[in-house]
Amino acid sequence: MTTAASIAADVRSKRTSAEAVARRTLDTLASVEPKLKSYISVFADGPRSAIEQAKAIDARIAKGEDVGPLAGVPIALKDNMCLDWGTTTCGSNMLRSYESPYTATAVQRLMDAGAVIVGKTNLDEYAMGSSTEHSCFGASFNPWDVARVPGGSSGGSAATVAARVVPIALGSDTGGSIRQPASFCGIVGVKPTYGRVSRYGLVAYASSLDQIGPLTTTVEDAALTLQTLCGHDPRDSTSTKRETPNFLAELDRPIENLRLAVPKQARSSANHPDVARVLDETIAAYRAMGAEVVECDLPLIDHGIAAYYIVAPAEASSNLARLDGIRYGHRAALEKGEDLFDLYCKSRAEGFGPEVQRRIMLGTHVLSSGYYDAYYNTALKVRRKIKDDFDRVFATCHAVLMPAAPSPAFKVGEKTGDPLAMYLEDVYTVTINLAGLPAMSVPAGFSAASNGEPALPIGMQLVSAAFDEARMLRIARMLEKATGAGSRTPA
Ligand code: GLN
Repeated sequence: MTTAASIAADVRSKRTSAEAVARRTLDTLASVEPKLKSYISVFADGPRSAIEQAKAIDARIAKGEDVGPLAGVPIALKDNMCLDWGTTTCGSNMLRSYESPYTATAVQRLMDAGAVIVGKTNLDEYAMGSSTEHSCFGASFNPWDVARVPGGSSGGSAATVAARVVPIALGSDTGGSIRQPASFCGIVGVKPTYGRVSRYGLVAYASSLDQIGPLTTTVEDAALTLQTLCGHDPRDSTSTKRETPNFLAELDRPIENLRLAVPKQARSSANHPDVARVLDETIAAYRAMGAEVVECDLPLIDHGIAAYYIVAPAEASSNLARLDGIRYGHRAALEKGEDLFDLYCKSRAEGFGPEVQRRIMLGTHVLSSGYYDAYYNTALKVRRKIKDDFDRVFATCHAVLMPAAPSPAFKVGEKTGDPLAMYLEDVYTVTINLAGLPAMSVPAGFSAASNGEPALPIGMQLVSAAFDEARMLRIARMLEKATGAGSRTPA
């Protein structure tokens, strides 16, 4: 599998056909899927199969049409994005058979640019999780070591890109769900500024935090995807009316007098030693390129998890209220004498898995009268301060540099019994969603192989000021060129 940029160039110039690319993609997918379990549905046959979509692209090219910058590029979608064919399950029994009547704007934009949708990827139920183990369809696995998780919640998307099945997959990031799996799988993952990409047709988890973004093998492909994804959508009132900059134009031009800030809170003793080492190596790499790297203080990183696990469940409890077995979702069978209330309770108890139920209970609790001020309002104040802290850093620095996650990929089952340990995976990512900022994970190094354990990829995170993705991508590109860590592939 090559990059999206080169596939599109080859298809557009007829060096290859979209159909040939689609057939090769489905073959690779079939060969690795038994061990990775990245997909919930694959469009292998039928009228909307990847092959049929590709043939339609080829037919348009044959007629001399310009099919767009993603001509014939195979793409996978996290299964919380609506598509007007197949199912949109969110990895939940609640929506196991849900067929969306419409397509998400972000997805439509990719298709309008010539992309071929190959399938829908596995995720933690409703995107709640950090390991892709909480799906009603079972867990997904990491291509670098199938005994380990791919991260989450966009784990299926990250794993299939890392395994070089598709060059691009879409993920969604509410508290780290693009960046942490990108780090665990050794690929690039971008969470755009809140409002950059339309959320229309993304099944809502926490609406003020959710954002769709690309998972790719190169920074260039991430820029290429963002170019298509971004832009105002009248169907999402939070989508920005700002002009989308040209992310590709100056991608290869390094930033002069680059100034990066590393929060001292990113030096937590809880970091895995290899993560701490790769952070130091990354700082050294930037310094070698002439950058100035300074320490900054973002004290609220230490409170990010607490604030996030109030705000996100609060919004989730409200968003998921519509899944009552009547308007939406799984409907339980009633016994004689049971009433409407029983129907709600049974449907939701059967439809939602334990992690989602935990979040709904947490969310309704922090919003309930008497606790609203103590919890929810306090979390909102912390959220405001987090944004202010970041803005202060961006007044003098181009970007913040820190790990994407405190450890490399952990073992399957290692954290499922301990929700708090799982939540702590998000320590470096959640504050960015609370602040609405753009951030990305870039492959930066590897853990040391030991006692038969393979070396695992480690990503570093770049965070920039709101709507400054173009510069963030250039800073990432500098690191990508310097380390080459992203070009290593799983065995
Ligand atoms: N792991 C975080 C959570 O469980 C983030 C999930 C996400 O970004 N969708 O909430």
